[in-house]
Amino acid sequence: MVTAVAYRLATQHAERQRVLDTLRLSREQLLEVKRRLTEEMARGLSKQTHDQTSVKMLPTYVRSTPDGTVEQGDFLALDLGGSSFRVLLVRLKNEKKQKVDMHQKIYSIDQDTLQGTGEELFNYIVYCIADFLDYRGMSGASLPLGFTFSFPCDQTKLEEGILLKWTKGFKASGCEGKDVVKLLKEAVQRKQDFDTDIMAVISDTVGTMMTCGFDDRHCEIGLIVGTGTNACYMEQMRNLQLMDGDEGQMCVNTEWGAFGDDGALEDLRTDIDREIDAGSLNPGKQLFEKMISGLYMGELVRLILVKMARKQLLFQGQTTPQLLTSGCFSTNYIYAIESDKDEEGLASAEKALRSLGLDPSAEDCAATRRICQIVSTRAAHLCASTLAAVMRQIRDNKAAEKLRITIGVDGSVYKGHPEFSRKLNKMVRRLVPDCDVRFLQSQHGSGKGAAMVTAVAYRLATQHAE
Ligand code: BGC
Ligand code: MG
Repeated sequence: MVTAVAYRLATQHAERQRVLDTLRLSREQLLEVKRRLTEEMARGLSKQTHDQTSVKMLPTYVRSTPDGTVEQGDFLALDLGGSSFRVLLVRLKNEKKQKVDMHQKIYSIDQDTLQGTGEELFNYIVYCIADFLDYRGMSGASLPLGFTFSFPCDQTKLEEGILLKWTKGFKASGCEGKDVVKLLKEAVQRKQDFDTDIMAVISDTVGTMMTCGFDDRHCEIGLIVGTGTNACYMEQMRNLQLMDGDEGQMCVNTEWGAFGDDGALEDLRTDIDREIDAGSLNPGKQLFEKMISGLYMGELVRLILVKMARKQLLFQGQTTPQLLTSGCFSTNYIYAIESDKDEEGLASAEKALRSLGLDPSAEDCAATRRICQIVSTRAAHLCASTLAAVMRQIRDNKAAEKLRITIGVDGSVYKGHPEFSRKLNKMVRRLVPDCDVRFLQSQHGSGKGAAMVTAVAYRLATQHAE
């Protein structure tokens, strides 16, 4: 009897292992991902191929990282597109060196607003700004504003952003193909409560790079691993064929979340990845992002649990309505389950599974923890591969023997997951051994960086006006 049970457990374990093996990537595969992104980046930068590529390599009109120039004044910053919507007041002061004071308020946006009409979404944003000004005792104030808008945008200047497509959980109608600065301005005019000068629209990656660049002049990459994923970096103008002029640099927003949308990652995607995509708001889009970021990580784990339960490999073959409901396995569960303390992690796994109405065995809890680890490790390693491609590009541009570089990072997965950052950092060092790399977590999100960009733009605009 004992041997029969042991035998059953051993075969189940081996079966589970087989499912999970499809999610494990070898060093060769990771180097291959790096190589493919390098190719896509070149295609995105080139005038001939730009329109057909999925990795868009968008010009941002941000031409330098913080250079030590001290800025002054009060600025508003908006941060839309991550796990929360924030309105910030950023006070830049000159007290021998740059000082920054920040005040922020977080607003939640409900599903209906995210997926309703664009007019409703922008009305709500303006309502939040008015509420924030009121809360700060500044009702009716007119301040220059920087808009961190974390979606792919075509820009022909700093203060314009044509939304190419919504990503993540957003789907408000009538916005794609429109200039979001204009949409915001129109909403401000409708409300007639306050006035504002929208000076800049920037990606969260750019805001993060600028925030971190403030403290570390080697910071030339901005990385986000949060609800979505993306990176920007400082590129040479001569390589940016979409732009006139060969002098100097410009930050490029890679939009690497869309990597694979042209089939470049098909051999690495599993049936679980295809299932996630099919059930998403934007099927066929942001395929790389869906293998990595926080909006999808919990769902990846849930789908694996379902698959294994159906194969009698977990929960004695049982499922519950909750387990079968998409979104029911929150990415936050993964953070708790992967606690570096085994007992805590297993207890969290049990708690999470019980909250889904299951009655898990110790074996089920251990297997669930293992699944979380494999899913998040794959995410960290894929991210390391794409980062390695970006680092390589910068190194080639500088023709440097050994590149000294800092990566400014933000995002709920990077900051909230107990193991993700360590795994990412370690794999980056393995994939690009000839780089001296530092990861710097942004302390103030993208708000400080957005305000710096806004301040520079405002100073230049007012100087020109004089
Ligand atoms: C968007 C990017 C953004 C990233 C991180 C992606 O879905 O396309 O613009 O930078 O999420 O927020
Ligand atoms: Mg964000």
